[in-house]
Amino acid sequence: LMSADGTVAATIFAEMSALAARTGAVNLGQGFPDVDGPQAAKDAAIAAIRDGRNQYAPGDGVPELRRAIADHQRRHYGLDLDPDSEVLVSTGATEGIAASVLALAGPGDEVLTLEPFYDVHAACIALSGATHVTAPLVPRDGTFRLDVAALRAAASPRTRMIVINTPHNPTGAVLTPAELEAVAAVAREHDAVVVTDEVYEHLVYDGARHVPVATLPGMRDRTLTVSSSGKTFSLTGWKIGWVSGPADLITAVRTVKQFLTFSSGAPFQPAIAEVLADDATPRALAASLSERRDLVCEGLTAAGFDVSVPAGTYFVSADASGLGFDDGIELCRRLPELAGVVAVPVAAFCTPGSPTSRALGSWVRFTYVKQREVLEEGVRRLVTAF
Ligand code: GLN
Repeated sequence: LMSADGTVAATIFAEMSALAARTGAVNLGQGFPDVDGPQAAKDAAIAAIRDGRNQYAPGDGVPELRRAIADHQRRHYGLDLDPDSEVLVSTGATEGIAASVLALAGPGDEVLTLEPFYDVHAACIALSGATHVTAPLVPRDGTFRLDVAALRAAASPRTRMIVINTPHNPTGAVLTPAELEAVAAVAREHDAVVVTDEVYEHLVYDGARHVPVATLPGMRDRTLTVSSSGKTFSLTGWKIGWVSGPADLITAVRTVKQFLTFSSGAPFQPAIAEVLADDATPRALAASLSERRDLVCEGLTAAGFDVSVPAGTYFVSADASGLGFDDGIELCRRLPELAGVVAVPVAAFCTPGSPTSRALGSWVRFTYVKQREVLEEGVRRLVTAF
């Protein structure tokens, strides 16, 4: 987690956002919306602050939010959860992932993830002392698919946990039922827990369907499902996330959460409880994002990138090798000067030097969760530059 000189290494998102700020480039790097979520949520949080909900919330989360999360899982996926023992509010999905990994994996254990992986997954595995093993997602027919044979081969009797992410950052892939079943089969065979990061659950396109791994046969009792309000309601700065799963696993996660943050943002929780019943807002966001995705995919293709069309998330990953760039990290450092745009190298989501990081070395990730004019300007700059 540290640079060679012992200083704290900035995450790739912080580095690239700083680069965008310094150069005035269009920031298509860090994935956060440039328009806030619903006014109703903001009003509810303001009211909660005014009404004195400003001291520690219960460590588990306020009861109305835990109930709203259980309702959400039932309404969308038919999952039945006891809001008191099977739902835990976290400080963003990031804390939910950290507490889950730290609670259940440690030295001597192997934790299996997809590769590329969201950087937090790898960092939390490193903090836990467990060994990180990966199975690749590979570009195929204009999308990314899980190499199921590699997943099976990567598993071992020491596999304690499998951390997945669907819809997937950075590729935008939505795992298919067959891919999820392969993950589930490995977990069942090796008696492993699945931690599944589903923060983009509502941001899926072209009729793709998000299937929580907890809904697969035999998986409810071995799955911790992590999600959040940040992406669903465009409130990424509020850091209200949650973990749901069987009571014994949630108890373990709660034990760790107590010593990470103790409890999460008190006035934001009742506000999220209120908007979590609103399915129209995320549906409208997905419809608008799907159009913005098309705009960016077409623009990148016109600029000469080889695009993998995402079925979900805020992101599209594209291969720059056709433009003569083999090193995505180098390209992203130079992109502000070359084109006035900031993007993030896909290699930042891989183990340094791994076969996948080499295979995807020329790939870069762009976000499209920006206003249309911003995306049009970014695309215009890329098409002009290349
Ligand atoms: N999830 C966002 C992304 O992938 C960034 C989150 C962060 O900056 N830590 O771009």
